[in-house]
Amino acid sequence: MSLVSHISQCAHRIMWIPSHKGILGNEQADREAKEAAQSAEIEVHSVPHTDIFPLLKQKIDGNTYNQLTRQARFKGGSYFSKYYSGFNSHPWFHNKKLPRHFIVWINRVRSNHYNLKASLKRVNIVQNTGCQCGFPVEDIDHVLWDCTCYQKHRQKMVQRLGAKGLLPPYTIEMFLKGPNISAMKIIDEFVIKNNLRLCRAY
Ligand SMILES: [Zn+2]
Repeated sequence: MSLVSHISQCAHRIMWIPSHKGILGNEQADREAKEAAQSAEIEVHSVPHTDIFPLLKQKIDGNTYNQLTRQARFKGGSYFSKYYSGFNSHPWFHNKKLPRHFIVWINRVRSNHYNLKASLKRVNIVQNTGCQCGFPVEDIDHVLWDCTCYQKHRQKMVQRLGAKGLLPPYTIEMFLKGPNISAMKIIDEFVIKNNLRLCRAY
């Protein structure tokens, strides 16, 4: 007689049942267990729902990627040509604990929609792109690197970037790829000290 026993649950109690004692149901369960163990093929009648999650996520990510690349033909062309480096289900600031204003203005500049005249003119919020210093285009690169209205803190910013091995000539594009967060923090300090509101609302 086999000493193998079965566990069954009855009236909230777990009981050990001896096998091969002619107990109806138990003998059948025993037989089916043996057949299943000897069978080369495993019949799977249902798949755990947790196994489906990765498939769903893969499908959703694929759809998002297709939609993004389709839309890139009509809008966001500047962002896609300069900064898009393949589909990532997490944004660049994921888990980085960065201040909100920092994330927002970087995203706005990467999308080429920010609160300076070169950008505002494109959507007819202002009549011309001229900077208050007299330069014909007030864009982010002019304001950060050249504009005479914001000389005060520029030298320190350039020194700090230089100390990181980042040497001029600078364009914002070279720091926004990635983006280079430590360099962008230095630039952010310049933006804050000069009260440059690159976005209307942070
Ligand atoms: Zn200027």
